[in-house]
Amino acid sequence: MIAALRIASAVAILASGFFALYEAIEAPSTQVFGGTLVHGSGHVVALTFDDGPNARTTPKLLDVLERAHVRATFFVVGRAVLRRPDIVRRMLRDGDEIGNHTQTHAHLNFLLTQKAIGNEIDAAQSAILAAGGRPARYLRPPFGARDFAALDAARRRGLRVVMWTAMLGDEPAGAPSGDLARQLLGQVHDGAIIVMHDGDAGRPGLGGRTYESAAANIVIARLRAQGYRFVTISQMVQHHA
Ligand SMILES: [Zn+2]
Repeated sequence: MIAALRIASAVAILASGFFALYEAIEAPSTQVFGGTLVHGSGHVVALTFDDGPNARTTPKLLDVLERAHVRATFFVVGRAVLRRPDIVRRMLRDGDEIGNHTQTHAHLNFLLTQKAIGNEIDAAQSAILAAGGRPARYLRPPFGARDFAALDAARRRGLRVVMWTAMLGDEPAGAPSGDLARQLLGQVHDGAIIVMHDGDAGRPGLGGRTYESAAANIVIARLRAQGYRFVTISQMVQHHA
């Protein structure tokens, strides 16, 4: 029954032509499907990095964060964690927070059963545990996709769903870091959750949007000059409570 409903809703989304409505429902700040974390409060920002870890990009990014004494939150993909658990261990040593970004970077709205959604989340939790981390407390659904079934799966597992305030569009891979930083910073305000990508979601060769993380040092320097304090998602939630 649930599978049938999900098939019907997936077909409806694909075929209805109500694309504008779909876009509005999928906006990161929409609360149509229940409470998600979109921002915190106070003169703080949370830097978050999605789709890693990535052997080429993430260690360099960790160097930048370490030099700047900034703790970030990494929404990792389980299959990428399995490939490079050592990078996750370094994140943990550095005091960064690990969040769940599913096992295969699946679009949860298009998984047809509660079991399939649960498996995506649980497998990523297992990969994080096997790398030496504690189970993640936060889930960021790939593509920002969440609906009742996805949110319910998160809630049953005690995971809070984290969206974002500031994110880059599809800038070309060669775009100068200064341009990327400017675009991102234009979307930042008190309590912002910033997303950048440091990985390829565990599909080597695709590259993903790994280039975005090269702008991290500029983003950090400019936000620091504006007096922002950098917090992990857990710290932001405590603050915002
Ligand atoms: Zn992603």
